[in-house]
Amino acid sequence: MKPPPFEYLRAGSVEEALEALDGETKVLAGGQSLLPLLNYRLARPARLVDVDRLEELAGIDVEDGVRVGALTRHAAVERDEQLAGPWQALRVAAAHVGHYPIRTRGTFGGSIAHADPAAELCLAALTFDADVVVRSRTGTRRIAAADFFAGPFATALADDELVTEIVFPAGATASVFEELAPRTGDFALASVCVVQTARGVAIGLGSVGPTPLRARSAEEARASGEPVSSVARAAAQDCDPTSDSHATAEYRRALVATLVERALLRLEATA
Ligand code: FAD
Repeated sequence: MKPPPFEYLRAGSVEEALEALDGETKVLAGGQSLLPLLNYRLARPARLVDVDRLEELAGIDVEDGVRVGALTRHAAVERDEQLAGPWQALRVAAAHVGHYPIRTRGTFGGSIAHADPAAELCLAALTFDADVVVRSRTGTRRIAAADFFAGPFATALADDELVTEIVFPAGATASVFEELAPRTGDFALASVCVVQTARGVAIGLGSVGPTPLRARSAEEARASGEPVSSVARAAAQDCDPTSDSHATAEYRRALVATLVERALLRLEATA
C-alpha cells in the first residue's frame, strides 16, 4: 500500500524543524516505524518534517555518562567500541533491533519517541535511568525515562517537541541485555536489561507490559541478598504480560524468570 497524501518539508536545521512542529505535523527520522504506519493508514498526518539529515543531532559522547543524539542510528550504537564495558547492554540492545538494513536507518530518538513496549532501546533507557531531552520553540526539557513512557506507543512528548538526545547518567559499572525472539530480527517475546551501579542492580523488563517496566520487587530481593533464582522468580511476578499469537502470558512470565536468571549470572561474571 502507498501512504495517504501529505505535505513534505525537509528541515535544514533543528530550529526549522521546531518551527514546523504542530498537531498536524509529524517528525520523520529513519522512517522504519512511521512509514509502515502511513502505509497501513494507522497514521494520517497532514505534514511530515524530515529531520533525517540533521547531522547536528547524531553522535555518541562517552564522558561522565553517555549522551546519544536522537539521530544516531542503531548500527552506530551497536558498533561503537566506547560503549564496551559498563555500557555493553546498550550495544547489545541496539544489535537486537530488527535486521541490519533497518538498523542503518532507524534512529535512537525515533525508537524512543515511537515507544513500542517491545523496543530494546526504550528498555535500556528505562533501566539505565536515562533522561530524554526534548526541545520546542519555547525551550528545552529533560524527562526521566520512567516518566516519558506513558503506555503502548504513548509518551510525555508534546506535539511541538522534538527529541534531541538521550542522556545516560554516570555510575553504571556493568550491564547485560538478554532477549528471546522467534527468529533473529523479530520483536522479542521478552527482553531483560540489568545494570549494576554502586546503589545496586537495576532490572528492566520489555515486551511484558504496556511500557518497559522496572522489576522493583526483584531489585529489592537482589538488594537483600536473595539467590539469583529467587530474584528471577520475583521478576516474573513484577511483569504484566498478555497472550497473543506469538506466546501466552504464562510463557512470557516463565521466559522472564529464565532471562533474568541468565542476565544476573552473566552480570556477576562481568562485574
Ligand atoms: P521513524 O519511523 O521516522 O519515526 C517513528 C516515530 O517517532 C514517529 O511517530 C515519529 O514522528 C517519531 N519521531 C522520530 N524521531 C523523532 C524525534 N527526534 N523527536 C520526536 N519524534 C520523533 N524496533 C525495535 O525496537 N525492535 C525491533 O526488533 C524492531 N524490529 C523491526 C523490524 C522491522 C521489519 C521494521 C520495519 C522495524 C523494526 N523496528 C524495531 C522499528 C525500528 O527500530 C525503528 O527504527 C524505530 O522504532 C524508529 O526509528 P526511526 O528513526 O525509523 O523513526
